[in-house]
Amino acid sequence: MSHVMNTYARLPVAFTHGEGVWLYDDTGKRYLDALSGIAVNTLGHAHPRLVKAIAEQAGKLIHTSNLYRIPLQEQLADRIAETSGMDEVFFCNSGCEANEAAIKLARMYGHNKGVELPHIIVMESAFHGRTMATLSATGNRKTQAGFEPLVQGFIRVPYKDIEAVRRIAQHDRNVVAVLLEMIQGEGGVNVADTEFQRELRAICDDKGWLMMCDEVQCGMGRTGKWYGWQHAGTRPDVMTLAKGLASGVPIGACVTAGNARGLFGPGNHGSTFGGNPLACAAGLATFDTIVDDKLMDNAIAIGDLIRKSMAEALADVAGVVDIRGQGLMIGIELDRPCGVLMGRAAEQGLLLSVTADRVIRLLPALTFSADEAQTLVSMLAPMIRDFLANG
Ligand SMILES: *Cc1c(COP(=O)(O)O)cnc(C)c1O
Repeated sequence: MSHVMNTYARLPVAFTHGEGVWLYDDTGKRYLDALSGIAVNTLGHAHPRLVKAIAEQAGKLIHTSNLYRIPLQEQLADRIAETSGMDEVFFCNSGCEANEAAIKLARMYGHNKGVELPHIIVMESAFHGRTMATLSATGNRKTQAGFEPLVQGFIRVPYKDIEAVRRIAQHDRNVVAVLLEMIQGEGGVNVADTEFQRELRAICDDKGWLMMCDEVQCGMGRTGKWYGWQHAGTRPDVMTLAKGLASGVPIGACVTAGNARGLFGPGNHGSTFGGNPLACAAGLATFDTIVDDKLMDNAIAIGDLIRKSMAEALADVAGVVDIRGQGLMIGIELDRPCGVLMGRAAEQGLLLSVTADRVIRLLPALTFSADEAQTLVSMLAPMIRDFLANG
């Protein structure tokens, strides 16, 4: 009997090591990793620059607590501020923690304005995490079922429905913020168009609401810009980061600007591990490598290549509903549930995930090469073709 709690339907595969975008299991079998630990391994596996940064830092200092200054944390905050045009960063250890910080900030902001019961607008099919507040903000009943009573203070609207937001803006005096993903990951790789983002920003400005972008999955260069919202140029007041920020070392960040600046003081929020020297060294190595190796240009080029090649390879196949995404956040929607493809792909040496029942999701490392992209397409296209023809 396993002593690991049964919270994941795991595939019976165990990896021993990786190199670049390849993983090796304990039987020596090789897998092309198009999932990157769910958008975490920004630089692939065992990237020499990341390994060196982590090893050197581990030999000096891993953790000191936030009761003292942490120069590496200050440097990482600088990098996030420079790349986003935002002001202040709170560091934690995961995406849900970053979103918890954002939700607390919004409530504090509301109370400071005299709103006694501050509410946050959230989206259908959103995913924000599995802590009590973030699962309540999440737009998937499966994530919430069994954990009621949910945390109050969220109002849900259909994703990208600006009219629904506008209607709430007209009559609701308790709303203080909107929380959303510019590209929904778990929800099926759904991209918010530029117009929606701009109109949402305008409503937030008009009403004095905080615009809060959950960039946990789509941030850190994956879409070809540092942050997903930069495609529309609509800077949020709050942004959350985690997954790819330190290429696999746990870290999260809640970033503020504008009206959200300066809301927390000592005692309002904290984290024992958050932003420790080891995680921040990995975060800095991630930023440096993305810049020096032009990985955001690569994300755009390789993402376009994968989408185009998949579209060509599947052009005559009925049952492929859509091939979409931005940069290296890619969704291939089928006309039927296709969860079995995750295991089938792994058997054939390819790692991917299926989300929202019918969407094959690819989240390759930003280091993916054109050759590796062609290998991916030549493995995946026949698999989809076979699945749609034979089940
Ligand atoms: C994964 C994810 C989270 C939760 O992150 P954890 O590190 O698992 O807590 C939150 N928001 C989005 C958009 C995510 O993709």
